[in-house]
Amino acid sequence: MSDTIFGKIISGEIPSEFLYEDDHCIAINDISPQAPVHVLVIPKRGIPRLVDATDDDQALLGHLMLAAGRVAEQLGVADSFRLIVNNGAGAGQTVFHLHLHIIAGRTFAEGHMAG
Ligand code: AMP
Repeated sequence: MSDTIFGKIISGEIPSEFLYEDDHCIAINDISPQAPVHVLVIPKRGIPRLVDATDDDQALLGHLMLAAGRVAEQLGVADSFRLIVNNGAGAGQTVFHLHLHIIAGRTFAEGHMAG
């Protein structure tokens, strides 16, 4: 477990409503949503950044992608959502416990990855 806000949410030290949970990850609403749907998929294993993942994390990384799809279906946005991973402070990462952002419910410009 990481000593971050997400580690504390996963351990239950900080109460939070889980939209989804399985053996390997949870999903929660982002506290500061950037879109009508903004959900975080967070592995229970506390990998700081994507680049810190190792071969041992291969199955977990695949699991997170599949879980993100399941959560998007659960939220009714399976036909239109974006998945984002911020890696490093320079890319806007603020919580150093790997997580996927599911962003949906707004228009996405074609060919524009950011914004
Ligand atoms: P990142 O900038 O990629 O590290 O994303 C961290 C995200 O965590 C931001 O979008 C924050 O709004 C969100 N966040 C921070 N604290 C909490 C919290 N207690 N519950 C839910 N989301 C949080």
